Amino acid sequence: MHDLQDMLLRISDQIYREADWGQPAQYIPELASVDPAQFAISVCTADGQTYSAGLAEKSFSIQSVSKVFALIATLGRIGDQLWSRVGREPSGTSFDSIVLLESEKGHPRNPFVNAGALVTTDALLSGREPKFALAEILGLVRAMSESDDIHINSDVAKSEEVTGSRNRALAHYLISYDNLLNPPELTLGTYFHQCAIEMTTIQLAKAGRILAGLDGAPRVISSHHARRVNALMMTCGHYDGSGDFAFEVGLPGKSGVGGGLLIIAPNVASVAIWSPGLNDYGNSKAGTRAAALLSQGTGWSIF
Ligand code: GLU
Repeated sequence: MHDLQDMLLRISDQIYREADWGQPAQYIPELASVDPAQFAISVCTADGQTYSAGLAEKSFSIQSVSKVFALIATLGRIGDQLWSRVGREPSGTSFDSIVLLESEKGHPRNPFVNAGALVTTDALLSGREPKFALAEILGLVRAMSESDDIHINSDVAKSEEVTGSRNRALAHYLISYDNLLNPPELTLGTYFHQCAIEMTTIQLAKAGRILAGLDGAPRVISSHHARRVNALMMTCGHYDGSGDFAFEVGLPGKSGVGGGLLIIAPNVASVAIWSPGLNDYGNSKAGTRAAALLSQGTGWSIF
């Protein structure tokens, strides 16, 4: 497996050489000032090894990658009941779009667009105080990563609360269709804090092992639910860039506007990549490039 380590180092070198970083998310003030010229990649393989290159021990804001963990927690709690409130279709719209909510009567397309993530978090909250739902998500993430050193950055959460008008608009629109059951400030507060979880690529790659079906991963999710989460990551994990990601990389993945990517090669590997500059879809620019290089180099595409 030294070949894989060499490949990661080569990919990291190439990414720094190309220096095509994009710009960090500007609408969340705490993220806007992050230096875009940063890159990390970690890969956990079926034989229990973890390989990394770049800044793999640096924590970053996982943002929408947290939607994967919130979905897993919610499926664990209420199972298929979730699907009466949120769909399983790609949206073809940006992550924070409100457009389809009107024509589809407050039923979000999938759990990974913001509207669907708010519904998912609302279902997880289900009348509890936000700290209990957050403890459930954080506990799950720590168990999946086998690391207690994973925390919520409350400055990032607060920073998003200040600028979160679109998410607030989505929440209120959902209420008008009876698809948000908790007070909106509680659901939004929980959502902003889950998005502000910080992890390293090593921790994130480890968290993905159970989705990749790797031996030795803590069994926090049934293989039935893992298959479904992978299917949603494949079709909806990169918003309106999901088709492009399938075309270039060919693996289930989930992005976040912090520049993180979790990518699953079923039965083979779990991959985490971070580079904070974004492309036009709001997905990591250099990260997506690195994912394509890794997929080409390893032949891990599921197609
Ligand atoms: N917290 C971000 C938002 O709600 C997450 C978006 C993302 O990472 O794609 O706007």
